[in-house]
Amino acid sequence: MPYLDDNLLVFTDLDGSLLDHHSYDWQPAQAWLDRLGSAKVPVILTTSKTSAEVATVQKQLQLTHYPFIAENGALIKLPADWPGNSDDVSGHIIGNSYSEIRQTLVSLRQRYDFEFRGFGDVSKQQVMDWTGLSLENAALAMQREASEPLIWFGSDFDLAHFEKCLQAENLSLTRGGRFWHVAGREAGKGSAVHWLTGQYRQQRDQPLVTIGLGDGPNDIGMLNATDYAVVILGHHDHAMPLDNGENVYRTRQHGPQGWKEGLDHFITL
Ligand SMILES: [Mg+2]
Repeated sequence: MPYLDDNLLVFTDLDGSLLDHHSYDWQPAQAWLDRLGSAKVPVILTTSKTSAEVATVQKQLQLTHYPFIAENGALIKLPADWPGNSDDVSGHIIGNSYSEIRQTLVSLRQRYDFEFRGFGDVSKQQVMDWTGLSLENAALAMQREASEPLIWFGSDFDLAHFEKCLQAENLSLTRGGRFWHVAGREAGKGSAVHWLTGQYRQQRDQPLVTIGLGDGPNDIGMLNATDYAVVILGHHDHAMPLDNGENVYRTRQHGPQGWKEGLDHFITL
């Protein structure tokens, strides 16, 4: 089990993990955030949100001096003082850029008459209706850099064909709640965690110890990519298939209470 003064890296999901599923509150986790802050342990937000959406939360959590992972791992944003970072390169995309993804989607639709609408096809009002977000938050969710959510209106048969076409273009199609997500085939929270851990490893002399915290199926890649995994009790019925070894801890509590419970379990002060 790691000590607080080990060379730790913490990767955490936001919704339903560090943030309460309903209220977005994180107060139960604040004491741990303070402790990690004093010990200079990077806390890396790892989420499906866009970089524009994460930026506000990251500021509120006072974590802006650390990188974060957005768009389900397709995008890694680096702080301005990151070694080797230049002013015009503030991020790392795994897979394809948003404009490349859009071009592929539009040309596949022209060619095969696939019936879908992505965020890039519709108005803010439509995204508000789909998501229940406010106008302001819908605008932030539409500022995409490396993945596209879409709603499929066609048949299952066409969907299978669509997925094959995407694979041939090195893109993946994954199911979220209401949306399908198109991103680079190698993109995912797990690949992003591997990439960023590699970057930290180059910067530090001592061995790193990584801890991941997440509540949903899209966190499994991240939880498999870290040395210790906290599976936070979720508000869903999906299985969270991970080894039940001593490096995996499943919490009894939801959200930020579970977040605290997991770090209490693993990290020795
Ligand atoms: Mg979550």
